[in-house]
Amino acid sequence: MTSTVISHPPRVIAYYAKERAAYPAAYSLKLTDEHAKKIVRKLCNHFIPKNHGFHLVGVELNFHGNRQNGRARLNGTITLSHTPSLGLICHEVGHLVDIATRKPSFRKRNWHTKHLMRIVGKLIAYCQKKNLWSTHQ
Ligand SMILES: [Zn+2]
Repeated sequence: MTSTVISHPPRVIAYYAKERAAYPAAYSLKLTDEHAKKIVRKLCNHFIPKNHGFHLVGVELNFHGNRQNGRARLNGTITLSHTPSLGLICHEVGHLVDIATRKPSFRKRNWHTKHLMRIVGKLIAYCQKKNLWSTHQ
């Protein structure tokens, strides 16, 4: 194997498995990069407080690779693999929503918590409600 292996601690791997099992439809729905961009924008508009630095100008989205993985950073950057699943999009945006709705002084060591999973559930439900699931947009 020449590809990069990203190793997560077992706790994080367990979290991912749980989230995928909770939202199988969202994780099997793959979206185009364009559609993903649109969804990230809509989710950030709706769920990130208007006065937070992440709002609109703060969130930067990049695409890298094809392995259905992603990354969110404290500076408001999200990286998604190309044609990401809806579940992956909601997971990474969920990190930013989690960060943006905490007190500024709060710096979490563990990013993968039940609290995050509840946020991801809300984002997925919002996408369903707003008909963002369709791949024909
Ligand atoms: Zn994560």
